[in-house]
Amino acid sequence: MKDERAVRIRDISKREGRLIKISLSDLMPLPSPYDKPELEPPLTEPKLDWSSNYVTELDGYVAIDIPWKPRSKEEEEKLVKRFLEGLRKLTSREGNWTFLQPLLLSLDYCAKCQNCAEACPIYVASGRKDIYRPTYRSEVLRRIYDKYILKKPGVNVELNALTILRLGELAYRCTLCRRCVQACPLGIDNGLIAHEIRKLLSMEMGIAPTALHERGTVLQLKVGSSTGMNPKAFINMVEFMEDLIREKLGRRIKIPVDEKGADVLLIHNAGEYISWPENPAAYAIILEEAGVSWTLSSELVGYDAVNYGVWYDDAQLARIAMKHIEVARKLEVKRIVIGECGHATKALLVVADRLLKDDYRIPRESVLPMLRDIVKSGKLNLDPGRNNFPVTLHDPCNIVRLTGIVEPQREVLRRIAPMFREMEPHGVYNYCCGGGSGFAIMTSLNFPEWRIKVASRMKFRQILEAFRDTIDPSIPKYVCAPCSNCKGELRDLLTHYRATELYNIHYGGLAELVVNAMVDLKEPYVDFTVQ
Ligand code: SF4
Ligand code: SF4
Repeated sequence: MKDERAVRIRDISKREGRLIKISLSDLMPLPSPYDKPELEPPLTEPKLDWSSNYVTELDGYVAIDIPWKPRSKEEEEKLVKRFLEGLRKLTSREGNWTFLQPLLLSLDYCAKCQNCAEACPIYVASGRKDIYRPTYRSEVLRRIYDKYILKKPGVNVELNALTILRLGELAYRCTLCRRCVQACPLGIDNGLIAHEIRKLLSMEMGIAPTALHERGTVLQLKVGSSTGMNPKAFINMVEFMEDLIREKLGRRIKIPVDEKGADVLLIHNAGEYISWPENPAAYAIILEEAGVSWTLSSELVGYDAVNYGVWYDDAQLARIAMKHIEVARKLEVKRIVIGECGHATKALLVVADRLLKDDYRIPRESVLPMLRDIVKSGKLNLDPGRNNFPVTLHDPCNIVRLTGIVEPQREVLRRIAPMFREMEPHGVYNYCCGGGSGFAIMTSLNFPEWRIKVASRMKFRQILEAFRDTIDPSIPKYVCAPCSNCKGELRDLLTHYRATELYNIHYGGLAELVVNAMVDLKEPYVDFTVQ
């Protein structure tokens, strides 16, 4: 039988058929207790009628859930033409104001040493399938660029419609975690190349997953949040959190909203309000106790730190980032603090630097160093004994590897969680949760199966290994994930494997653990009830 792992670069252009089929027996084995086959839910096949609209010819999974397959020869030619025009723009100074230099440097040369492959959780977890090597999609784009833009002779790639369709899907088989970049002796950024392919598709061809664009950026700009929450619903949510706080703390706290001249504008990922309101409520308690001058905003987009453009489209990224800055300027705050959200931290702290000028350069920071300073200041009366259960820490790629915020969250945990243990590897060598780059919110068709089975597999292994000595279901365990997106992925991951129900493994943010350790709390803040 043909070894399906051996897929050559030129196979991307095959006129028909699927490049690979994933089976459970290929995937990286999971450790105990998930080494028993009956605990591994099976894989499914794509529905037959999907192939007329969506691209199932890569690995059978569909991330781009809008119909974009050409239906005639003319449409195929048009697709190729638009792709090449987009690539020309993407590789020109005028057309790419964000990442032109690192893109061209990454396309320039690859030593093909494959150091990056073993660093990639997707490649390793898939059972080392060639198409998931960090270099596979990069080499396809490199060859197209060399042959069709630079007109180099003898380059072995054929640009047809299926090359583009498969490459488009393949750009969504990378979480943009950039772990491979650290392993590359030449500093080639294969994650960036995946990002730039997404950008080309979105900005030049109007193709992006609906969760990121239609139900993401477009909805956020229209109603105020990608969750669909409008300003009125946000105010209701604030009142709900005030009730929640009174219930837990035994007294009422007034959460400041639209306080002009406050020191800090705190912007959470609005997904927190919908799915984990105990996280923003915990920050309200902590900031009140610490006497910080702070506020939330109820203005359109001002209460949602989400900026999905960072994953697929620079123009959309710029629109949201400018809105965040405008809200802060209007409120005349001294700085913007981004709550526990990795991609929002990347968007506003790092990438936005490339577009903000002059007095738009308001100081922007992550909430984690501020939380560390508060905990260390002694302003909170904390008893670590209240967190007397095993805790491990997930490092969100965009906060830790990208921004370099590694120690603050650990300094907090060392003070408040006596049974804290690291995952291995951790810090800047962490593995992505599997939900990075938008995957956690991409729930269409069969994509969730791929992200849980392949993209999150390494994280699940790390969690099980971190709790190896306490896997006994009678012991509640807590995966601390200071990122809204990562929490969404952990929720789906633990649900898929019934890990909460069977082994008492829970997840949550960092601020919740801090509040849980507060001495004057009436009720435990962290809830280990199994639904
Ligand atoms: S960025 Fe992460 S997921 Fe993407 S190729 Fe590199 S290591 Fe793999
Ligand atoms: S580690 Fe760098 S040079 Fe080596 S194969 Fe990967 S991208 Fe190419």
